[in-house]
Amino acid sequence: MNLRSLPLIAGLAGFALVPAATAAEAVEPAFVALAPHVRMLRGPDTAVLLAESDQASILVDSERPETTPALLKALEGRPPVAYVVNTHGHPDHVGGNQALAARGAVIVAHENAWRRLSALKHSDRPDPAVSKAARSNLIIQGDRELRLGNVEVRLIHVPKAHTDGDLLVYFPAANVLHMGDCFFNGLYPIIDTDSGGTVDGLIAALNRGLALADDKTHVVGGHGPIGGRRSLTDARDMLVEVRGLVARLKRAGKSREQVLQAAPTQDLDSRWGDDWVKPAQIVGAVYDSLPARP
Ligand SMILES: [Zn+2]
Repeated sequence: MNLRSLPLIAGLAGFALVPAATAAEAVEPAFVALAPHVRMLRGPDTAVLLAESDQASILVDSERPETTPALLKALEGRPPVAYVVNTHGHPDHVGGNQALAARGAVIVAHENAWRRLSALKHSDRPDPAVSKAARSNLIIQGDRELRLGNVEVRLIHVPKAHTDGDLLVYFPAANVLHMGDCFFNGLYPIIDTDSGGTVDGLIAALNRGLALADDKTHVVGGHGPIGGRRSLTDARDMLVEVRGLVARLKRAGKSREQVLQAAPTQDLDSRWGDDWVKPAQIVGAVYDSLPARP
């Protein structure tokens, strides 16, 4: 299945896996300093991190294909990008891969994200997000550390979370943690069950992030504003609660339709459910990824 077709297919069912493009794309982005040696660019959808040594840099995620010109412009005058780390393979996180690979960057991703990208067919038209030049060429299987000059980064695979190919990206010296789409700050998360995501894996990923973070950690999520340990804890606690509410109904033998009808998250929805991920989407994904007798 073509990754770019996922939002369309999901859209037919009334849901989106990635947010719709917004007028914010017209805004020219710039990297702003976040911590020593680490800068952040808030694209129209996702947060892109840039960690710089004296000679070169590591980019974390590369936004949508449509925003690549703005990303390249924001990188002008900065040290060349040596590595692009993809937190996972969704199209709003890998769009600049091809252009950066063409400039010499090594693309880094978990093997499951790489497998999805490289299995794609390109019979109709080239897809700038996933064309051959953009496929990962440093494949991560478990946890891994990379060093670039004085910059060290830890890549941590969290299994079956938002997808089956998620990496948490932690810069210990700067105390900056990029959770990818394992953390949406202030809104319900997406669990992409078609790509191997599960609620229990996502809770474990949030706990893994919490084990890394202290009260001063900058915690960057795939969507929503930058957060910290407090907002990461809130996201974990909310998801544990949603899991419990849905599991209770599934355990009682309720069908998916009956659980959706029951609107089990209604007490949480005003805080978490009025952004682009709707209550039915998280309830359905939690139901689908729970075992038959949770
Ligand atoms: Zn995603």
